[in-house]
Amino acid sequence: MFSLSLAVLALMQFASLREAIPFFIEDGTGVPGYQQSDRDLAKLALAAWTRESGGKLKFVEAKSQSDALLRVRWISNNNGLFGETQRTSVNGKVGAVVNVMPLVAQLGEPLSSRAVGDSLLRETIVYLTCVHELGHAIGLNHTRNFEDIMYSFAYGGDFVQYFMRYRSRLQTRGDIAKYSGLSGGDIEILRSFYKE
Ligand SMILES: [Zn+2]
Repeated sequence: MFSLSLAVLALMQFASLREAIPFFIEDGTGVPGYQQSDRDLAKLALAAWTRESGGKLKFVEAKSQSDALLRVRWISNNNGLFGETQRTSVNGKVGAVVNVMPLVAQLGEPLSSRAVGDSLLRETIVYLTCVHELGHAIGLNHTRNFEDIMYSFAYGGDFVQYFMRYRSRLQTRGDIAKYSGLSGGDIEILRSFYKE
């Protein structure tokens, strides 16, 4: 269950939230299902959080992996999980590793078949997984609201419907830059981090 105090604690741990957070996106070459353009989806997900924060949350690309507090890593099939975020320590500071599984054929039916036959649904899944996991990295917890990007499937709900409501807004891949995928509730929580 969402708890504001926990979110604030996470924010305080990720002390760099008030400065630009150095990030590094790993090369996923060789990871099953990975496409070179997935890197752009991760960058779009970072840009979405910045945009929805009103520009307060900033990210800057680190020169090397060792300088990054936030790392995006592409992983192979992880027990059907879309993604997972781990807290880490980077040079004595709190960091995060965001793991994203790009092989949509491994997500289970009926979602897998639909995503294999619909590249924009496949892009939607990878993009929204990046957005959700980055939300954890920033300090947001799961919610029970199906509308939220931070919704957890542990509360039930229809995977296909969750992704299709975003997919149905896309005419082209370029439209991903227009729609963050965050709900009003997600944005409210994000912005609460920056209230004086
Ligand atoms: Zn989650």
